[in-house]
Amino acid sequence: VKELRALHLKKERAESGLFLAEGLKLVTDALEEGWPIRTLAHSARVKDQPLVVKAVKAARARGALVLEVSDEVLVKICRRDNPQMVVAAFEQRLRRLAELTVPTGVWVALEGIKDPGNLGTIVRTVDSVGASGVILLGDVTDPFALEAVRATMGSLFHVPLFAASLVDFAAWKRAHGVPVWGTHLKGAVDYRGVDWPETCVLMMGNEQSGLSDAHVAVCDGIVKIPMAGRADSLNLAVATAVMLYEIRRARLTV
Ligand code: SAM
Repeated sequence: VKELRALHLKKERAESGLFLAEGLKLVTDALEEGWPIRTLAHSARVKDQPLVVKAVKAARARGALVLEVSDEVLVKICRRDNPQMVVAAFEQRLRRLAELTVPTGVWVALEGIKDPGNLGTIVRTVDSVGASGVILLGDVTDPFALEAVRATMGSLFHVPLFAASLVDFAAWKRAHGVPVWGTHLKGAVDYRGVDWPETCVLMMGNEQSGLSDAHVAVCDGIVKIPMAGRADSLNLAVATAVMLYEIRRARLTV
């Protein structure tokens, strides 16, 4: 129980390589996608529910420790008053970009993303449009933080995540010849005017400082989403969603 509770802390997640998934839907999604599970804890109250029975059986079959606990213990594990009835610790999966040897489809690269809610929302959106995955560039928020995991609504288990430095990303791009389109408030091209290739990377900037010059330099083109009112910019996750749906729309109608 202490170990599960500790997974709220970044240091503990980094040391153990584990993270917490809360709720039967997330735990079931992760099990169905074959994510390695270490521990599953569930409330004694739900032990006979068919989906809980199924999840417990799958977890045991994979060698996980299964704990039947009181609601008070779940409050401790989840650190909140209305805890989920099922929680589980899974092994993290964040691969190095060099391992992505055959990139196809649309990838989203995020420079220094800081907000876990934004990251989770972007992963969920990538899943929604059927894009290929997410590349985390530089110093970013932990994709396995509870807030990020929650915001993905289970898409974390379907969307591959890769990490790279900008230098490694540039080398990878050269090696695979993948076109990279950046987004910037000062972009020269309207986002609706691009003939989007089958395979490309959409690069998004940091919440506060936007896309840095060094990242812009790696891009083949920079687009902007015109702003009609008085707001300076869109929220990062919203801008990513607008871009991904436009790319999807353009490719479906062509
Ligand atoms: N102050 C930052 C700036 O000057 O770029 C704002 C960053 S914005 C909140 C976060 C990211 O969302 C940007 O780096 C860009 O990738 C994307 N974004 C937001 N609004 C955009 C727009 N109107 N056109 C293109 N990209 C946009």
